[in-house]
Amino acid sequence: MVNFMPGGYVGRVAFIDLSKKKYHVEPLNMNWARLYIGGKGVGARYLLEYLPPGVDPLSPDNLLIVMTCPANGTMAPASPKYPVITKSPLTGFWLDTHSGGATGVELKYAGFDGIIINGKADKPTYLYIEDGKIEFRSAEHLWGMRVSEARKAIKEELGDPQVKVMTIGPAGERLVRFANIDSEGRQHGRGGAGAVMGSKNLKAIAVRGSGTVEVALPKEFEKIIEEMREKDIFKNPEAEFGIKWGSISLGWFTNEAGALPTRNFQTGHFELWSGIDAIAVSKVRVKRAACRQCPIGCHNWIYIPSGKYAGTLTEGPEYETASLLGSNLGIGDIGALAKLNYLADELGLDTISLGGVLGWATELYERGIISKEDTGGLELRFGNDEAYVYLVEAIAYRKSPFADLLAEGTKRACEKLGRDSCRYAVHVKGLELPAYDPRAAPAMGLSYAVADRGGDHLRSWPIGPEVLGRYWLGAKPIPIERFSPENKAIIVVQQEHQYAAKFALGVCDFCCWDNERLSLLTWAVTGFEEFKDVRNFELAGERIVNLIRVFNVREGMTSDHDVLPPRIHEDPHVSGPTKGRVLPREWFEKMKKEYYQIRGWDERGRPTKETLKRVNVDEGVFKHVGW
Ligand code: SF4
Repeated sequence: MVNFMPGGYVGRVAFIDLSKKKYHVEPLNMNWARLYIGGKGVGARYLLEYLPPGVDPLSPDNLLIVMTCPANGTMAPASPKYPVITKSPLTGFWLDTHSGGATGVELKYAGFDGIIINGKADKPTYLYIEDGKIEFRSAEHLWGMRVSEARKAIKEELGDPQVKVMTIGPAGERLVRFANIDSEGRQHGRGGAGAVMGSKNLKAIAVRGSGTVEVALPKEFEKIIEEMREKDIFKNPEAEFGIKWGSISLGWFTNEAGALPTRNFQTGHFELWSGIDAIAVSKVRVKRAACRQCPIGCHNWIYIPSGKYAGTLTEGPEYETASLLGSNLGIGDIGALAKLNYLADELGLDTISLGGVLGWATELYERGIISKEDTGGLELRFGNDEAYVYLVEAIAYRKSPFADLLAEGTKRACEKLGRDSCRYAVHVKGLELPAYDPRAAPAMGLSYAVADRGGDHLRSWPIGPEVLGRYWLGAKPIPIERFSPENKAIIVVQQEHQYAAKFALGVCDFCCWDNERLSLLTWAVTGFEEFKDVRNFELAGERIVNLIRVFNVREGMTSDHDVLPPRIHEDPHVSGPTKGRVLPREWFEKMKKEYYQIRGWDERGRPTKETLKRVNVDEGVFKHVGW
């Protein structure tokens, strides 16, 4: 049993060298914890410090960091989220990818705030972490297993069903650039962290701990989490949708708004959505589930009782999956969607990037840019679920030259293929776009373009205020016109601060907390007095955004990377309520310029030294600033 320090932290970080099969433990840098809170913030500071510039993401020198957050393992509701942090093999830039699986909490119980993994094992290996000790175990017998098989085999081998397991599937082993990491049935989905694990010959991380996590101010903490449950969740109409339907209910709103990616983002409205929407899911739902300590419980388990895919049992689909593997591929059948979702999860593939690359390839086929000669005889048309079922497995195992190409992700695949195919590629910095089309919500375009890990919806979500038409700036509402660039940059900036700080704290994004509550929660958990003032919580978020931008600029990011796919500016939606709409390039440039100005970044997108001083990054950051 390990002794724990109060205040949400364990106080220990393990540095693990897979090449040498050795590890050592260092105290958590509490100066960094105070400035960057935890999770993605503290993980960013470790990555900046310990990853040399210019490292190939799939080389042994890349770092794989599993970092926990102060709220993980406390009684705070909806607070199990923890990140894997690395340099992405899909984008070549920063990656944090979060999961609600129980392994993060268990890692704290086992005595670590984080583990930092370097090197490459000579043979397939898994780590077993138990109450402060780390063992290197052979995974040769696990190599090739799907994720649920590997998880089960490890628990049986260790003789303990309570062990929590993070594992990759066959896709991670074969270095598919959008391979994910499974954590007890939830996924660290985006950016290819599973390929980084595979490149290190690391099949899994199994964790068991007998500790607990103390909060610094128990009485204040009790009061705040009671308010979170009562006011933010149970009496909040927004949360009601999540509780009743799960994230898939978002599709009603996006389909009506013309923002639902359909047939490789050719339009924003899917005429077959009712076949896979929240009602369709509820008809085949067999149970609801939740991450640890979450009263929302947004997960749906579904079972397909009849038809071509009878017998499929899977968790999901979440909204993003239903869109990218559903509407974006022209699939309006819940059985086919369930099968694709199941295969992606079991083989270890990010469903968003998978749907993106498949949508791109299908459009190329329909336009005659590729033919059966390229696809290996496949009739790759939108709605052809059998072709997609075949391709998901083929990509995970890199079974054919065509599948091997797609396994590289849309950006690399189009660059290799040529034939003007990049014209139809929908990604930012190599990360395929999620399920909110910027032609229906212009600020989402800015949000994707400047997001730290590439095209992503979990850095800010301005489509909410854009469609509702109002945004609260402090105590004052500012008017927003949906189809206009005015007042959009400030929304993205402010939301980015909230998202960065709440992910550092470990609180799920799928609810409705305000900054005051999150700040007070940070104060009560950590005991850091400054978080009694919400401005310091928002400043911590701003500090994290700037810290990660320093990392990305060091790795070669410039304003030239903060751009959108040509389709968003040049191809009008072909149907639905946004028919004829594009996001005009001049609107986008205006928003981006304002964004840099508000941030205090120069015209090349670099934080100035004055900005870094203003947001109070630690002195050690400046040695990484070469501009
Ligand atoms: S809202 Fe859903 S994803 Fe978030 S913590 Fe709760 S159950 Fe998990």
